[in-house]
Amino acid sequence: MAKMDGRVIAELILHLGCIASREALVEGLTPAQWAVLRYFARANRFSRTPSAFAAFHGTTRGTASQTIKSLEAQAYLMRMRSEADGRSAQLDLTDKAKAILAKDPLEALVRAAGALPPGARGHFANGLQRILGQVARERSKPSFGTCPSCEHLGGDGCCTDGHAFYSCGFATEPLLPEELDYLCINFVLGKPMTATGSVTGAAPR
Ligand code: SF4
Repeated sequence: MAKMDGRVIAELILHLGCIASREALVEGLTPAQWAVLRYFARANRFSRTPSAFAAFHGTTRGTASQTIKSLEAQAYLMRMRSEADGRSAQLDLTDKAKAILAKDPLEALVRAAGALPPGARGHFANGLQRILGQVARERSKPSFGTCPSCEHLGGDGCCTDGHAFYSCGFATEPLLPEELDYLCINFVLGKPMTATGSVTGAAPR
């Protein structure tokens, strides 16, 4: 078996990232536009902003805004008042965007990752999340992640008046079970992921 040191793993991650982002125009969208659509399909209500996308994608706010504006002009994104603070803009996918995401060129990579055994997926996701957290900390950037492994997640899903109950200690707001599996800019790694990476088993929209 090949020696699996840190450099080999880093180069494999880089190689996968290059393959995933090397596609030219697919369905008339550039790789940067696809990255925006994927992000807004997975981001939670605290993170669906141009600046959060810029932080996630490691780009400038100006570049992110230009790509986002081009998608708004093509009716893939709509701008709404933020659910989180009522003042800033929040961006949501339109039905047109949700439909085109079914043709996402990244699906080959999704299928390959999905073909790993459940236990391997959990270990792999935990390892990648730890790598991401360390690199983000060294660069003073947010690491992004989902509620099930975030130290700010409160509640145990115990039913209150017939509704499962969770809360976000960072935003001091209740969370619905179906919100837990979305990406969050305020994430702080606190707990290992489950084998499925999910508290609820719900798939992101
Ligand atoms: S619990 Fe963590 S990941 Fe979930 S909304 Fe709060 S800060 Fe974000």
